[in-house]
Amino acid sequence: MIVFTDLDGTLLDHSSYDYAPALPTLDRLRRAGIPLVLASSKTAAEMVPLRRELGFETCPLICENGAGVVAPGETGDEIAGPYSDLRKALDKVDPPLRICFEGFGDMEPARISEVTGLPLDQALLAARRAFSEPGIWTGSDTERDAFLAQLSYQGITARHGGRFLTLSFGATKADQMAHITAEMSRSVTISLGDAPNDADMLRAADYAIVLPNAQGHPVEVAEDGGARVLRAALSGPAGWNAALGDLLTELGVTD
Ligand SMILES: [Mg+2]
Repeated sequence: MIVFTDLDGTLLDHSSYDYAPALPTLDRLRRAGIPLVLASSKTAAEMVPLRRELGFETCPLICENGAGVVAPGETGDEIAGPYSDLRKALDKVDPPLRICFEGFGDMEPARISEVTGLPLDQALLAARRAFSEPGIWTGSDTERDAFLAQLSYQGITARHGGRFLTLSFGATKADQMAHITAEMSRSVTISLGDAPNDADMLRAADYAIVLPNAQGHPVEVAEDGGARVLRAALSGPAGWNAALGDLLTELGVTD
């Protein structure tokens, strides 16, 4: 068995980022030796300290929305992802289109703090990109299509989520989930998530635990797909704890 979990609004409370209500089930996973793979849009720099705090350093983690993986024990500092290649590709785009995209790499830390709503110290961690470049699009939809076409010639794909247009060389949370599951030789997969950017990871699992979305953007996972879909009654870490705890019991994991 292996568990993949989103962070914000799933394992972490949407506003306080607290995970204390999830501690009983986190303890059960650790005692049973079941790997927990954190999977988020956050950067390695933001996620590695949490992985250590939770006691799952022996597990890989999925960062930047599936664009990258941090191996067990890696601190995140030594990661040489393709970020500089992304920035070089941006430099090759026609200047009138290029100026319509304000990437994190174009922003001062204070500006990143402003657009993400993160305090400055956390904005600095969010700015430490290795695999993907989020940014704000200020041009028209037609210009955006032309911009993305020029990037796609260079192997770059884009995803829209909330305020940001995020560029990467592809790979989703589900792609990374498949690699990790095979690498760790696990046969039963459980995924937990609360938002549309978790949908592929939920659909790819044997058991998908869907948490209520605090911002009113529920995730749709078809009941007739491969996954058995379970819906948590509570949002955030309390729902995470109860729904995953019940499933572990059903699957015969001793308390
Ligand atoms: Mg979330």
